[in-house]
Amino acid sequence: MSKLYFRYAAMNAGKSTALLQAAHNYEERGLQVLLFTAAHDDRTGPGVIGSRLGLQRPVATFGPDTEFSREHMPDDLACLLIDEAQFLTPAQVRQLHRLAHLGRVPVICYGLRSDFRGEAFPGSAQLLTLADDLEEMKTICACARKASMNVRLAADGRRVTQGEQVEIGGNDRYRAVCPACFYSDDAAGAKQAPGLFG
Ligand SMILES: [Zn+2]
Repeated sequence: MSKLYFRYAAMNAGKSTALLQAAHNYEERGLQVLLFTAAHDDRTGPGVIGSRLGLQRPVATFGPDTEFSREHMPDDLACLLIDEAQFLTPAQVRQLHRLAHLGRVPVICYGLRSDFRGEAFPGSAQLLTLADDLEEMKTICACARKASMNVRLAADGRRVTQGEQVEIGGNDRYRAVCPACFYSDDAAGAKQAPGLFG
């Protein structure tokens, strides 16, 4: 039985690296995969999934109007892999769940659970509701606790706590922090030098 998988994490936990590795594992067995990332993510240029380890490959992009249905997919598709899945609409998550169970294609989504305000992304909330298999990918706050939240930083390094949920910038605009640092007034985890885990 095929499933909808959601691999969620804070920023910079290696989601894109894990996605590219998963794709490679299928392909080295001669199986066909299809990769998508959000159309408005310009971190590595349009239609590219890039990992911080230097791997990258061109991929398809999805926008709010992209339809994930079996007839739009290759017949011999072995797996659908989606990066930046927090930007899926709830309706698209429903399509992917149907695709997994009726179209018999495993769908693996990688994305952020919460935004810089600690609010859910609609796509992630729907994935947490419908995904058959959930896994948190771990990353570490600058204080060495587990990071599960994100802070947004202004160009001068100061923390930003208000604004639009989606504001595309470099990954250095965001930092993964633990809840204690997220709620502390000085956002220590946000201000510290990136160090080992930045
Ligand atoms: Zn911390």
